[in-house]
Amino acid sequence: MFSLQGKTAVITGGGSGIGRAISLLFARQGATVHIVELNAEAAAHVLSEIQQAGGQAQVHQANVADQQQVLQVFEQIGKLDILVNNAGIAHVGNVENTSEADFERVYSVNVKGAYNCLFAAVPRLKAQGGGAIVNLASIASHVGITDRFAYSMSKGAIFAMTLSVARDYLADKIRCNSMSPARVHTPFVDGFIAKNYPGREEEIFDKLSKSQPIGRMGTPEEVATLALFLCSDEASFITGCDYPIDGGFIRL
Ligand code: NAD
Repeated sequence: MFSLQGKTAVITGGGSGIGRAISLLFARQGATVHIVELNAEAAAHVLSEIQQAGGQAQVHQANVADQQQVLQVFEQIGKLDILVNNAGIAHVGNVENTSEADFERVYSVNVKGAYNCLFAAVPRLKAQGGGAIVNLASIASHVGITDRFAYSMSKGAIFAMTLSVARDYLADKIRCNSMSPARVHTPFVDGFIAKNYPGREEEIFDKLSKSQPIGRMGTPEEVATLALFLCSDEASFITGCDYPIDGGFIRL
């Protein structure tokens, strides 16, 4: 598989789900991984998994929505080759049942959090002579999903942000791409089912799995493999692209 030997990678939200899988895989492929995570306990667990496997990693407890915290973390990290903007939260609701507080919470983590990390990372990547950025978009960036008003807004913004950054930093050799997963089996999905369908977890899990053309949810490891390719030198001709990783959801 693709090597990240000698690279330094920042993964936000690396304590769970897709971010955890990306952190483990990147470390296994030789990167020094910096997990930027709100949940220190979850991040510490991933750190010990990486260390047990012989990899290099550090944890930075921070809220990506807070620019001062993000700037401090990137200051500590120093040299940087790869940024994966993965931290994200969900909200279920249409316009009418999305309060201003709900909207602002989703916006502050999913959109402003990604911006804060880009703001901190881009000058470092430029100084380094280039690098790779991968942002977590979603199928909700592309198609209408019922009751995901604020979430879809945030993931549409990620898609546009990716294009903007890719365009602006072509000459600086910073490649910026996004991934658009459909449902991937992570604590994010389990939490959503438990909160919204208590007592019907198995039935809803099955229903959601079958609602995807391929007949199942994705795995965090499948998404991590795509991230690895996009961040590797082998993807050197790829920038400004969004990659659905969706079991056929968008097109089939
Ligand atoms: P998850 O909930 O399992 O993990 C997200 C991690 O981000 C958690 O560890 C959480 O503590 C961390 N986090 C949340 N807010 C943070 C903040 N403000 N600062 C720092 N860390 C924070 O989620 P996941 O399913 O692995 O999703 C990861 C990303 O993939 C998200 O951006 C999500 O929108 C996107 N995505 C997920 C799916 C899916 O089906 N799981 C589908 C499409 C897109």
